This record gives sequence, structure tokens and C-alpha cells, in this order.
Amino acid sequence: MKFNTKTIHGGQKHDAAYGAVMPPIYQTSTYAQTTPGGHKGYEYSRTHNPTRDALEKSFASIENGAFGLAFGSGLAAIDAVIKLLKPGDEVISTNDLYGGTYRLFTKIFEDFGIKFHFIGMQNASNVAHFINEKTKLIWVETPTNPMMNIIDIKQIATVAKKHAVLLAVDNTFATPYLQRPLDLGADIVMHSATKYMGGHSDVVMGALIVKDQELANRLYFIQNASGAICGPQDSFLVLRGIKTLHVRMQRHCENGRIIAMYLKEHKKVDNVYWPGFEDHPNHEIAKQQMDDFGGMISFTTKDDSLQGAMSFVEKLKIFTLAESLGGVESLAGHPASMTHASIPKKEREKIGVKDSLIRLSVGIEDVNDLIADIEQALT
Ligand SMILES: *Cc1c(COP(=O)(O)O)cnc(C)c1O
Repeated sequence: MKFNTKTIHGGQKHDAAYGAVMPPIYQTSTYAQTTPGGHKGYEYSRTHNPTRDALEKSFASIENGAFGLAFGSGLAAIDAVIKLLKPGDEVISTNDLYGGTYRLFTKIFEDFGIKFHFIGMQNASNVAHFINEKTKLIWVETPTNPMMNIIDIKQIATVAKKHAVLLAVDNTFATPYLQRPLDLGADIVMHSATKYMGGHSDVVMGALIVKDQELANRLYFIQNASGAICGPQDSFLVLRGIKTLHVRMQRHCENGRIIAMYLKEHKKVDNVYWPGFEDHPNHEIAKQQMDDFGGMISFTTKDDSLQGAMSFVEKLKIFTLAESLGGVESLAGHPASMTHASIPKKEREKIGVKDSLIRLSVGIEDVNDLIADIEQALT
């Protein structure tokens, strides 16, 4: 099955009871048993729920994995991955990553004795340099947020395999429409399904997808034992969202390309960060591992001031100033004060998250309206 068919049919069966084309929302916590242990595969909805199962099968299908797990948020999914580890273990992570991931690693898991190294990964040999016998996991986000750097998943996977270290990739920005990390050698794919997967800014959810049965069993155990699952209603909504993932992503990419080109030519705009530019430092890797370049763009203005950035985002009328990304509607954000405020200013600026940086999540509206909106806010 090709990707554009999998988004609609991957892992799906029509409902056994009445042939409903969409899985019913099984809004139930428990399931009747005829005799103790005599049930139809479902006992309690923290462990399993038919609507969540349908979604988890869809996740597995579109990422070319074998097992999917749905969580109450992206961070709950990451939390489950780190719970594979023990005190004393070490993690090597991308240094330019989602602020909430950084907060979870440093403010929660460091207190449990797990050590994190945050490093630039554009050069894979840099990763090898930080591996020792305590290293158990490499955490990669690509494209990185918000600087849109690209990390070579295949190369990092080679390093990870050589040292028998797990490789997890946060695939939220790219989605499997653009990039399939398991095919490139990653062990775990993670999503904030809140973003492109759900796609309509109406659900908070997380996902993990793996190929290996034993790793899946360990994660299912954590999912059930820690309990950070999502409800059946949300499962239904994200399953519905995934059915249009390919057409939405196609338009996000088209609009993203036009807006990136427009910004690059604009006399008030300084740097534009978008991996589709030929002069982007990681453009060749982006071309190899991604099928297109997505709808996420960051940029700075020539006046390079906090005030300039603030005034730009406040003047926007169609773009909504908001946290999050990946919905049908265009959003603008100011990383330094919003998504990345939990990263200390000094750390932030080291990776280029200046006070003047603006991040756009280009939606699927008419691109001419979006450009007119940016134009009026810039001038
Ligand atoms: C939003 C986001 C997360 C966190 O997901 P939530 O669903 O908000 O918990 C993790 N990684 C990336 C890249 C994100 O954009």
C-alpha cells in the first residue's frame, strides 16, 4: 500500500458490529466478562480501547512500523521513552529542540539520575564522541525547532547501531509524509500528534511507533503501568485527521515554499531558515531524507530587535499568534518568549534563538492572503 492509501486504510477494519466505516468512539472504561478473564480482548481502557487500537494501528502503518502507541500528549510519549532508562544512564540529545522536551529532560529526569548531553548533531562524528558505556539513548529532532537544521538520521543510526544504543526521532515537524525515520534505521519514532497528525488544532496527543516486538512490549508495559493514555474521543479525532494528512501536507509544503521564497527576497527580512533553500547548510541531507521541505519557517528581521518581532506578530491578522503548529490554520510564534522560554537565554542564543526570531507554521489557506498578511505586518 502506498502512503496516500495508508493514511486512509492503514491497519483499519470496518466495525465488526454494524460495518461502521469509521471506528465507533468506544467511550467506556471497562468491558463485561462472562467468567473471570472471559472477555473479547478488552478488560480495561487504560490497557486497551478499540478506538485507540484503531488509531495505534494507523500510526504504525503510516510510519512503516509494526507497533503504535498513543499517549495523552507528545510529552507523555517522550516521558514513556525515558522510562526505558535507569539512574546512571546517559542520553545524547539534539541541542536545538522543543523547549518542553528540554524541560522534561533537565527538570524532571536529571533528578532521577539520568544524564543528558545536548549537542549539535549536524556532524554525526560529534555524537560518537559523546558515547560511553553508560549511553543508552540518542534523541534526535529533525528538522530542529525552531532553527530548521537537518540531522542525518541514517548516519546517526549507523553510530547508534555500532554502539548498541537506541535511537529515537521526534518526527513531529516532518510527519511520515516527508520522512520515515524507521526506514532510515531509527528504533523509535515519536510524534506530538497535536500538530500535523491531528492537524486541526483540536486535540493534544502523543505517539510512539516501533518495529521491534520486544521494545514494543516494554513500551506497552510503561504505557499501561504509568497510564498516560489518551481517551477514545481524542483517538477518533486524530484518526480522522490522519485520513487527510497527505493532502494537507502537500498544501503545507506548497504554501511553505512560496512564503519562504517571498521572505528571502524581502528587504526587511534578514535570515530565513527553511531547509528547501539550496544555500541551507544541510540542504543536501534534507533532499536525501525528506520528500519535500514542509511548512515550518523561521526568520529574523533586519532591525533585529525584540520590539520589531513583537510588533510583527501582533499586527498579523490571518496568522494567529499562538503556541503550537501543524494545524490547517497559519500560526506565528515568538520562540524566545513562547515555545522556548523554558530554555535559559544564554543556551537559547547559542543555538540562534534570538529575541528577534519569528517562527511561522504555514497553514493551508490561500497563499496570496497569507503573503498579503505578512506584507502588511512587515511594513
Ligand atoms: C509540541 C511538540 C512536542 C510536545 O508535544 P505535546 O503534544 O505538546 O505534549 C514535542 N516535540 C515537538 C517537536 C513539538 O512540536
